[in-house]
Parts: sequence; structure tokens; C-alpha cells
Amino acid sequence: MSALFDIRNLTVDVPLESGLLGMVSFAQPRLNILAGVSLQIGEGETLGIVGESGSGKTTLALAMLGLTASSGGEMRFDGAPLGSRASFGTLRQKTAMMFQDPVASLSPRMSVGALLYEPFIIHGKRVANRRAKVIALLEQVGLPPEIATRFPHELSGGQARRVCVARALALNPRLLVADEPTAGLDVSVQGEVLNLMAGLKTALGLSVLIISHNLAMLRHVTDRLAILYLGRLVESGPTDAIFANPRHPYTASLIAAEPQPDPRKRRADLALKGEIPSLFLRPKGCEFHTRCAHAQPMCQTTAPELRTTGEGQVRCHFAETLKLNNRSEPNGMEN
Ligand code: SF4
Repeated sequence: MSALFDIRNLTVDVPLESGLLGMVSFAQPRLNILAGVSLQIGEGETLGIVGESGSGKTTLALAMLGLTASSGGEMRFDGAPLGSRASFGTLRQKTAMMFQDPVASLSPRMSVGALLYEPFIIHGKRVANRRAKVIALLEQVGLPPEIATRFPHELSGGQARRVCVARALALNPRLLVADEPTAGLDVSVQGEVLNLMAGLKTALGLSVLIISHNLAMLRHVTDRLAILYLGRLVESGPTDAIFANPRHPYTASLIAAEPQPDPRKRRADLALKGEIPSLFLRPKGCEFHTRCAHAQPMCQTTAPELRTTGEGQVRCHFAETLKLNNRSEPNGMEN
């Protein structure tokens, strides 16, 4: 599968006031939010980015779209390098973003019809029959034409999400970036939105990037997963393979934290301990060692490299020897 989006060693630092760190320095200190992330999104592929708050997943999406400045690394979309203002302008015409809070992302003073037509105005595109275009977009997401005259506050959560999808599709994008697409929705409406996205992906051949901490949802809709911890990629691979056999203890803990049919079979060694550390105080060695039940002395001093294993990648010194499948006992025996 050829890469539509190719990200190599992407880094995002933000400048800090030196007083924040209690230091006197002539060089302005910087906080490292994203630390050399490399990822590819294939044509027609759905990639899920997973991690707790503070893992850098939203920063990654914003940097990919040029909405946050990157400090290092390279990105290519459809083979063309990204970096200049013009290149990101072209990219945004081919990429649609679905924001986490759909109502907040829609201007309250604009009707749905005006909101759906706005992308054409922003990008200077002429449309012969504006009303027909708006109705066609509404139809594509399963909404009736009369929704066009409503305002965002008059929509249900599910309708607002569908309007966001319709708006995202206006310019025939090749990539859809969805930030927590089901957050705050009832389970039944979540299913509707995900089915809609899956149907559109198939019908239009879209590539999709979904950012979420909802692993249960990602399991059903993604082809591959990338797991971030403190702005670093710790594991990636095909979704089925990761759920069947997680290689990194952080991934295994996230999977184990999902609701289980029989909570008594939960493995205590996979429970996630404590909170994600502050980016101001990145742990030395393996940055996950402060929460890892499998940490060894070397984990406190030596940072593991990201290694390719089969179809995926993992950043753990002991990935080959740990038995992390949630259905197994810690010693590897099946329940
Ligand atoms: Fe845990 Fe050590 Fe692996 Fe880090 S390198 S995830 S601390 S076992």
C-alpha cells in the first residue's frame, strides 16, 4: 500500500519562559511535546492514534495539517514535501478535519446550509448550483434537506457530527482527520457516526486518521494503530495483531483497561499505575519505567530504541520476552 501521508522524525517543541524552569539561561528553553515521530498513512487506510491526555496525539494531528509549527522532521503528502505555507494550503484542500466538539467547531451565527457552502468560499471554488450542492452533501451523510435552514444549536449531537462530516467532505478530500469522533455521544449514535465514516471511506476511497483514547472503538474501525506516550511512538502495527499480541507494556495496559466480560480475569500486572508524567520532567531511560510493572534496572538508565518487529514497531528492551496478552496469566499460561 503506497503512503498518502509520510511523516519522518516529526518533532514539535514550544518555547518556554526561562523563569518557568527556575533557570537563568541565555538560550531560550523549549518544551519537547512531540519527539521524533515517524508514521505512514496508506491510501484508503484507517490509522488510529492512541494515548492518554498529554501523549501528543492532538499535537501530531495539528502539526500534520500545519496548524502547529513543527521543529524538525519531514512530511510528505502524496509524494510532495510539506513545509511551506503554500504546501499546507494545498494540503488543507485535500484534507478534512472533524473536531472533537462539533457544535463548538460550527459558527453559531451560520445556518447549516451556509456552513456547508463556506469551504467553497474559503478556497475560492465556484459552484454552479449552490443549493443542489448543499442538499447533495446532506444526503451523503443521511440528513434531510430541511436541516440546511437550521442553526448549530438546533441540532442533536448526532446531527451536528453528521454536519461536520458533510462539511469535511465538501472539497472531495483524500484524507479525513477525526479527533475523538464519538466523544460525548450515546452508544447508539456513536455506532451511527462510525458506520457513516466507514461507509464514506469505502465509497470515496478516503484515508482516515482517528485520534482517540477509546480503544474499543478504534479496534472496530482502524486497520492499524500507533500508540504514543509522552510524544513518542512506543508501538505501531496492524490493529488485529496489536489486540491479539501487544508488545509494549503501555499498549497492554491500555487494552487491559477496556471493559472485560469477566473482570476477575484482569491481570494485575497490566493495570496502569499512576498518571502520565509531566513533559517538564521526562523520566530518564525508558520514559514508561515509572509506571511499568515489568521494568528492570536497565530501564531506568537506558532508553529503548524503536525497533521493527514483523509488521509493526515497538520501543521496549524486553518486547520479545514479555507475555502481555490480557487473556494469559503473567507466566504465559492460558486461563
Ligand atoms: Fe517497561 Fe522496561 Fe519495556 Fe520500558 S523498556 S516498557 S520500563 S520493560
